[in-house]
Amino acid sequence: MAKRDYYEVLGVDKKANADEIKKAYRKLAMKYHPDRNKDDKDAEEKFKEVAEAYEVLSDDDKRQKYNKFGHAGLEGAFGGGGFSWSDFTHASDFSDIFGDGLGGIFDMFFGGGGGRRRSAQADRAGEDLRITISLTLQEIAKGTSKSVKVNLMDACETCNGSGSSDGSVTTCEQCHGSGQVRRTQRTFFGNMETMSACPSCQGEGKTIKNKCTKCKGEGRTSAVKNIKFDIPAGISEGQIIRLRGKGNKGPRGGAYGDLLVHILEKEDDVFERRGENLFLAFPISFSQAALGAEVTVPTVSGNAKMKIPAGTQSGKVFRLRDQGLPILHQNVKGDLFVTVIVQTPTKLSKAEKSLFEQLAGYDKETKFTPGKRFKF
Ligand SMILES: [Zn+2]
Ligand SMILES: [Zn+2]
Repeated sequence: MAKRDYYEVLGVDKKANADEIKKAYRKLAMKYHPDRNKDDKDAEEKFKEVAEAYEVLSDDDKRQKYNKFGHAGLEGAFGGGGFSWSDFTHASDFSDIFGDGLGGIFDMFFGGGGGRRRSAQADRAGEDLRITISLTLQEIAKGTSKSVKVNLMDACETCNGSGSSDGSVTTCEQCHGSGQVRRTQRTFFGNMETMSACPSCQGEGKTIKNKCTKCKGEGRTSAVKNIKFDIPAGISEGQIIRLRGKGNKGPRGGAYGDLLVHILEKEDDVFERRGENLFLAFPISFSQAALGAEVTVPTVSGNAKMKIPAGTQSGKVFRLRDQGLPILHQNVKGDLFVTVIVQTPTKLSKAEKSLFEQLAGYDKETKFTPGKRFKF
């Protein structure tokens, strides 16, 4: 099923402010609340759908991306399976709806196979980071490599990422190393016994007695890294390059997250891009149009000669094969479409004026046939 527009899901205007969005979400969340729709799969789906829409539209950054690129702009914003309840960050803003907390409850009830049951190790993985890069048409035509400075979290050098000043790590006393504790939670489903991350060790199963003073036991510190990567020829605005393991280092030995590079295109002064094809308007004179000429037109990779046959009409489009952009990951190129525009002179010298007057004597009557399209 195609994903619905988030504004449509919440029933708000594209220009709705944060308050209106919040109100609309609250109303729908109450309506589709599982307590009021027992065993109604459809309501359950809707309950989740409105949460996803609210998660995106209540976040300025996500909302902007969505406005600009639609659902494609949020690729990678949630986990691989798309939005899941673990991505919902507003449960505590609506404690009247969600009760005391989310815990593992939503995964149990709604997540099904898509729910992310993550190990303590995976929980410690670093966050994904996002950057945007603006490319010129020339860079897109040839492909390029970039080197960018990224502010991120990297392993603490003092404690080698362990978070401990002396290397002493002990098994957590509360959960005996399992990282999980059994809890009875009051929820809108009644009292539930659930397993949740141990609060003493945050689910790691281990505690650190003497925390590293540099990183305060986190095992990571902020750093600036130079990251180099290649951009393939033919990429387009809105696409995302995922650089695995180039994001934040996870705390206390956790894995690195990814770096997501969002592609933007700088507007080009000369060419207009439509997919792999380029379009160009090119001026020629009356005499070139009437007598024919060879002209030099710009291409994305330099110049090309183009023949204008005698008797060319203004607005005629010439197609230069393979002078467009490469198609991503294919050995195929688009074309360059040149529209010639005959320029009518606006300031005539005496000599020019007299020549045009002589020419006017040769004018045949031009006729527009009613009911027929003028062809050129
Ligand atoms: Zn440290
Ligand atoms: Zn513990």
